[in-house]
Amino acid sequence: MDRTLILLKPDAIQRGLLGSIISKFENKGFKIMGLKMLQMSKDLSKQHYAHLVDKPFYPDLEKFVTEHPMIAMVIEGKDAVDVVRLIVGPTNASKAPAGTIRGDFSNSTSRNVIHASDSKETAEKEIKRFFKDNDLFKYEFRNGYYLRASDE
Ligand code: UDP
Ligand code: MG
Repeated sequence: MDRTLILLKPDAIQRGLLGSIISKFENKGFKIMGLKMLQMSKDLSKQHYAHLVDKPFYPDLEKFVTEHPMIAMVIEGKDAVDVVRLIVGPTNASKAPAGTIRGDFSNSTSRNVIHASDSKETAEKEIKRFFKDNDLFKYEFRNGYYLRASDE
């Protein structure tokens, strides 16, 4: 099973979208292993967005992600990294298909409500950045039989 890191960015909280977004992952059959509210520091933003610190939009991005709280969560499931990115949609929400989270809840490249890890390697690094092992729970769904066949 894959694990991936999701951040529900400050715009998701400010706009009251947490329940609608989290329910998309629950409906898909993904398991929430850990979830917490935090406020990003500037240092954490620079680590998390290291690939973007030299971009002209970085100062606005850092202000946006550090000035209000957000939610971090780890979810687990079959092909979770790739499937979550499909559910999230492309970075530019104006081009995101209807039915994706960004397509349904944003029309912006910057205020695009959610972050999701872009590869398995990134996911493991990002999970460690936000969660201690003890903060993550391993448990079985009692209805697993109805989510997929045993050989899937
Ligand atoms: N971002 C932005 N302007 C841009 C590109 C990205 O403000 O032109 C922000 C946006 O919030 C995006 C984040 O930087 O989600 C990370 O960018 P990345 O290219 O990693 O996109 P993502 O993985 O979030 O789709
Ligand atoms: Mg990214």
